[in-house]
Amino acid sequence: MSLTKDSIRSVLGPVAIPGQTQTIEQARLLEWVALCETYASLKLNDPGAPAREPLAAALAATLGAHARAEGAALESLIIEFVDRAGKVIHTARPALAGAPPKATAPADGHRPIGGLNQSQAPRAQQPQDTASGLPGVGNIIAVGAGKGGVGKSTISVNLAVALARKGHAVGILDGDIYGPSLPTLMGLGALEQVVMQGTLQPFLVHGVKAITIGKLVDAEKPLIWRGPMAHGAFKQLTEQTNWGELDYLIIDLPPGTGDVSLTLAQTLRLSGAVVVCTPQKVAQDDAVRAARMFQQLGIDVLGVVENMSWFIGDDGKEYDIFGRGGAQVMAQRLGLPFLGAIPINMALRANSDKGEPTKNFDEAVVGPILARSLEALTTRVEQEVAIASMRRGTRTPTLTIS
Ligand code: ADP
Repeated sequence: MSLTKDSIRSVLGPVAIPGQTQTIEQARLLEWVALCETYASLKLNDPGAPAREPLAAALAATLGAHARAEGAALESLIIEFVDRAGKVIHTARPALAGAPPKATAPADGHRPIGGLNQSQAPRAQQPQDTASGLPGVGNIIAVGAGKGGVGKSTISVNLAVALARKGHAVGILDGDIYGPSLPTLMGLGALEQVVMQGTLQPFLVHGVKAITIGKLVDAEKPLIWRGPMAHGAFKQLTEQTNWGELDYLIIDLPPGTGDVSLTLAQTLRLSGAVVVCTPQKVAQDDAVRAARMFQQLGIDVLGVVENMSWFIGDDGKEYDIFGRGGAQVMAQRLGLPFLGAIPINMALRANSDKGEPTKNFDEAVVGPILARSLEALTTRVEQEVAIASMRRGTRTPTLTIS
């Protein structure tokens, strides 16, 4: 027997909210369940400050008992309480009775990735194989760019967080093994990589499961990989992470064309790739090369995002610094969908440096335009993924008459 997201939902539904008359099902508190092997994460609408920790303890007790009854190992539970805007206002880490002690990475944080060994122990639960080629993972989306510095990692992170905010189970993999930026962008600095039974446990941050080579090697040293090493490192990161069940896995690729993209195409079946570009002519030329590369590798290009499209000054005026619309024209020229434009926003830059991507969806912090642009981009990506999977025949169209 094993735990599933559905079994967790049904067992937690009747739990009474301490100090209140309703159960969590009646009050519709449970928004999201993520299960990653022995880790579970819940997102709940806020029941009010006094009820948070007692409710977290009650959920942990019920879930712990359910896991034991199913003969499943559950070692860690993280509960995020969110407000009406979906913003996390409190995180609880209630103790799970009977949970075995955690295995942790060595204190020096310097673990050769080759030390991972998938064959060391069988996984506690083996999710179903899926169209993506990664067990348990529904859709894999690669995010690429022709050149560095155009905001590829920024778009990857915000796309992942936005999908999670819509209720999807999402993972993000820092495939930019030459210059990993996820530790900064997702605020992983103080966290320690956990390796259990030879597999990497992703970090559960901002509602997303994240993994990066930046937490396995010395961040200060340059990462110089030869082709086969890059291939091996990327493959291990992808395949030896306990992703659990995911609706979407976002892969932030290194800029340009190269080894990692080739490995990706050889080992996984992608839903498609998103190409990030700034409006200037030089950036477009590189983005065209990136799009062509994906197509040559047999990867669908879901579309083009124009980042740093325009800037809104303190005077409220819009400035088209790099020539807004350039990437849109390029997308049209290549016959690719245009997924949306994201403005230059100083708060986004600051939130990225601080590892607080959820703030990019808080209109009080970033203003209305950025948050809405990111959400619109995410909706377009979801649509293009659905279209791409229908094209490949992995999803049948449904007709809804209302
Ligand atoms: P890449 O992954 O393409 O190398 P990054 O995502 O690391 O690029 O972004 C490069 C820099 O630009 C970072 O400092 C990031 O915070 C900033 N940045 C990216 N997009 C925007 C934007 N729309 N507004 C403001 N700053 C941005």
